[in-house]
Amino acid sequence: MNRDYPLEKVRNFGIIAHIDAGKTTTSERVLFYTGSQHKIGEVHEGDTTTDWMEQERERGITITSAAITCFWTKTGEKDKKDTAKKFRFNIIDTPGHIDFTAEVKRSMRVLDGAIVVFDGVAGVEPQSETNWRYADEAKVPRVCFINKLDRTGASFESSYASILNRLSPKAIRMQIPIGEEGAHEGSVDLLTMKAYTFTGNMGEEVLEGEIPANLLEDAKKYRAELIERIVEQDDAAMGAYLEGKEPSLDELKAILRKAVMANEIFPVYTGSALKNKGVQLVLDAVVDYLPSPLDLKPVTGTNPKTGEPVERHASDDEPFCALAFKLQTDPFVGALTFFRVYSGTLAAGSYVYNSTTGTKERISRIVRLQADKREEVAQVFTGEIAAAVGLKDTKTSHTLCDEENPIMLEEIKFPEPVVSLRIEPKTKVDQEKMGIALRKLSDEDPTFRIKTDEETNETIISGMGELHLEILVDRMKREFNVVADVGKPQVAYRETILGSSEAEGKYIKQTGGRGQYGHVKIRMKKMEPVDPDKKVSKNIVREDHFEFINNIKGGVIPQEFISPVEKGLREAMARGYLAGFPMVDISVDLYDGSYHDVDSSEIAFKIAASMAFKEAAQKAKPVILEPIMRVEVIVPDQFMGDITGNLSGKRAQIEGMEERGMNKVVHAKVPLSEMFGYTTTLRSMTEGRGSMTMEFDHYDTVPTNVAADIIASRK
Ligand code: GDP
Repeated sequence: MNRDYPLEKVRNFGIIAHIDAGKTTTSERVLFYTGSQHKIGEVHEGDTTTDWMEQERERGITITSAAITCFWTKTGEKDKKDTAKKFRFNIIDTPGHIDFTAEVKRSMRVLDGAIVVFDGVAGVEPQSETNWRYADEAKVPRVCFINKLDRTGASFESSYASILNRLSPKAIRMQIPIGEEGAHEGSVDLLTMKAYTFTGNMGEEVLEGEIPANLLEDAKKYRAELIERIVEQDDAAMGAYLEGKEPSLDELKAILRKAVMANEIFPVYTGSALKNKGVQLVLDAVVDYLPSPLDLKPVTGTNPKTGEPVERHASDDEPFCALAFKLQTDPFVGALTFFRVYSGTLAAGSYVYNSTTGTKERISRIVRLQADKREEVAQVFTGEIAAAVGLKDTKTSHTLCDEENPIMLEEIKFPEPVVSLRIEPKTKVDQEKMGIALRKLSDEDPTFRIKTDEETNETIISGMGELHLEILVDRMKREFNVVADVGKPQVAYRETILGSSEAEGKYIKQTGGRGQYGHVKIRMKKMEPVDPDKKVSKNIVREDHFEFINNIKGGVIPQEFISPVEKGLREAMARGYLAGFPMVDISVDLYDGSYHDVDSSEIAFKIAASMAFKEAAQKAKPVILEPIMRVEVIVPDQFMGDITGNLSGKRAQIEGMEERGMNKVVHAKVPLSEMFGYTTTLRSMTEGRGSMTMEFDHYDTVPTNVAADIIASRK
């Protein structure tokens, strides 16, 4: 079977934004203009295509990242019969809310480019910065869309300036707006020097005209700036330009395309999704400047059998390789595993090898999600995104590939959860259902974890924030009918050591017949951050938060007891030393010990190791760590004093203040434990006019007096 679509005509991209910037509205317009949807669902009516889960509709936020396929022909080339001009878009949905950054991170791995949507009043907001950083890390090419230009207070220039100042000086305006706020009509394209306005019910007709006289001077000035930025990217073009020869439009676009794909230029567009202005021109930019899978570097991974690095090119002729990036339950089709194909092809009904688990799975059906339907496909090709039905053991971040040519792609790294709470089923029936529900939900969301408290036998769930857990508990009720009591949110504290120490653990029992004998000597110190590129020697086990060095010489502890020692250390670490929180970033060097021919056993060495660990931890300056959040509070001027005063009482470190329109913005770092319920406090302190965002920043040592309280409360 041949591929159904030329690879160079495929664009895999995401639309990313700070919450409320207009991502949902923009996505809706995209689906409308690409013809996959005929009725536009407004967000406030709770009828949008990408938000299909009930509580998402209620809250008006998109939690999940589904992939949707649609088709686009560039403006001005809309001769409907000419299919050669059609491009296939696979749009990977990403959430805007701060508690779901894991979703954004995950999707960065599988998208090749992004449209970044900004609120034309607020400009760059905290989540835009976070998303931008993730996109930088993943080297994702971007085009910017300054939305909501029709709103009172909107300003293209100040939003554009905030992109330049806060995100990247490599941004450059491709357009200037025709009117702002109530007078917003469209935009001037600086490359073509034409004015674009939009008519028809939904702005579906794009009209090209002459630049209004009052904008001509500006347009010329900014065009010169744009052309210079483009020719700077190409020596030949620069040479010609200096001699007074401007490259042709096609040449300019070709140079710009290369520069965007190399993250050297971020083109900036503008408009109003709600008022149906400008979105089509951004879609043209996706075609013109964002990469097709063919433009990407080959994907790299390792051969799971040999550990050797392997590469796969974007070609149907290479062995199959794909990354599963999202599990989702579809109300009509059931459990779906979304995957992105990097090389080769995969047919429905065939078997695929999961190199992460080392097992084979049958792909019963493959579907592609469109705005209003699920299309069943017989085969998927390189560069495509699709969903498999019926996979059992494949989880987010697993690699699917050809068994004969195995490859393991780099795993997607997710942040550790920082909030946890106890959850107790109401009845025996609920108990059983709860287990199943929680397992399913944590399969879908890698930042949602479940654990059982060994002492109380209670179930503890943890996640990225209060709202995150609230929504998951809500889903458990609705989708799985589980009734449960939920405890108060708790901070996910950790413990570590600041110093270093040595300790000895001896577990010796002589009682009649066979006794017990385990004896170890260890050194403990704080672990250095892991350098993934550095090779580790055979006697070292190194993970993100734990390192174990086996320095036993001459068999003073026989080989078979080494791994029980490691196990004993790990268990002691998980139990914590000061207040029962798991310990992190600890390096243990096992350097000596002894054994007894008859009495030594695995269990004796395990106990001896955990005794040594406890003693060493006590001597190595143990401390409690707490999550510190990056907080941004936006309030009208008159509340500023109250807000900063209140924050100071919360052990906040105020890092800066700035003006944004009529409001003041406070940037601070605050311990998470001080921030529970803060939205309510903020609302009541500001007559409902303040707003805030918060996200995890780092773990830091808890001050001694606070630590004493935490320890006392755990006794
Ligand atoms: P999301 O949270 O980023 O998905 O943002 P939404 O698309 O849900 O938009 C948030 C709010 O802003 C909604 O009430 C939209 O109707 C409104 N909105 C979105 N785009 C525009 C726009 O271009 N102009 C105006 N005035 N409002 C908009």
